[in-house]
Amino acid sequence: MTATQILAKLVSFPVLGGESNLSIANWIQTYLESKGVKVYRFLNEEGTKASIHCRIGPSIDGGVILSGHMDVVPVKGQEWDTNPFELIDKGDGNLYARGSCDMKGFLATCLANVSEMQKANLKKPIYFAFSFDEEIGCLEGENMVNQIKATFNETPKYALIGEPSLLLPIVGQKGIYVLKTVVTGSSGHSSRIRQEVSAIHESARLILWLENKMNQLVANGHIDKRFNPSHTSIHIGRIEAGIAPNIIADKATFYWDVRVIPQDDVLHIVNEFRAFCDELELEKGKVFKDFKIRTTDEHPPVPALNTDESSPIVGLVKRITGNNEAATVSYASEAGQFAEGGYESVICGPGSIAQAHRANEYISIDQLQNGVEMIRNLVRELSSQ
Ligand SMILES: [Zn+2]
Repeated sequence: MTATQILAKLVSFPVLGGESNLSIANWIQTYLESKGVKVYRFLNEEGTKASIHCRIGPSIDGGVILSGHMDVVPVKGQEWDTNPFELIDKGDGNLYARGSCDMKGFLATCLANVSEMQKANLKKPIYFAFSFDEEIGCLEGENMVNQIKATFNETPKYALIGEPSLLLPIVGQKGIYVLKTVVTGSSGHSSRIRQEVSAIHESARLILWLENKMNQLVANGHIDKRFNPSHTSIHIGRIEAGIAPNIIADKATFYWDVRVIPQDDVLHIVNEFRAFCDELELEKGKVFKDFKIRTTDEHPPVPALNTDESSPIVGLVKRITGNNEAATVSYASEAGQFAEGGYESVICGPGSIAQAHRANEYISIDQLQNGVEMIRNLVRELSSQ
């Protein structure tokens, strides 16, 4: 099958992040097994989702993991001109479908090259590591790393995460942590402002603390010019609270995210926030003893990526793509998790992030073809060492 034919098959499985992915995982497993590849699959606890791993080439230290996710983002509320789960060639040089670019295009370039990999005299192995639930917070990334370690006796050295980058090597990425804070105060007539503790007023204090924290980091020189904005950002995106202007709110909930540059420690920032919350609880507890602030994870933290440009994986990806400029991005991916797992990692895949997650998502036929070439060049590199 060609990459286009495989891509057409892959996009026909409408598997969203969070949903069972067995349909697409089974198809990929059957395809690989039909080529004689030994597939390792790991099920989630409920047995509804599977990650797919395999190795092609010798069981020797130092190979390259090709990593991608099988899930896609929803199409609900988006105005598509065509069926999002059918690969459409409109004759304009682009192939349209949900996931065509993010990131089943990359999976197709890997799968289309299995025979090339088998025929080549690979000196170092190539691994596939295909995950699920990436689009709802990179929930499987850490497990993927542990599964690789549990499955293979040898140790891969590098990971190439095929998120759409127009085949530019991406060496840096911000980390992300999404949280929810619930403030419980006391209710009453708004005139009783001194006798009650308003959850809204206390939330406002916490939100300002977070904004000040962000500004303080900047003032203290926590800057990485490779990113825009060039600092860690802290943002509150949603708040729910209150009934009427004349009623003191006894509950307020706000949702926020921290997007960290590689130099900043997200847990340190959140722990400082928790310490401030503890102080506030003590103080306001004198007015209302059940005053509480609770902060929980909406998504576990996804680490930043910060691969040294002198790392051999960067040189390798430059050679196999012909792109000599390394770049950084602000979106999150599993790359930081692979890097944290000990594999030097670069993001590089066909298609543009500008086309991802939107209506009429597409990958250009050129990009798909160049992606196939990139994998072929990788096979050549690993055969000639
Ligand atoms: Zn993606």
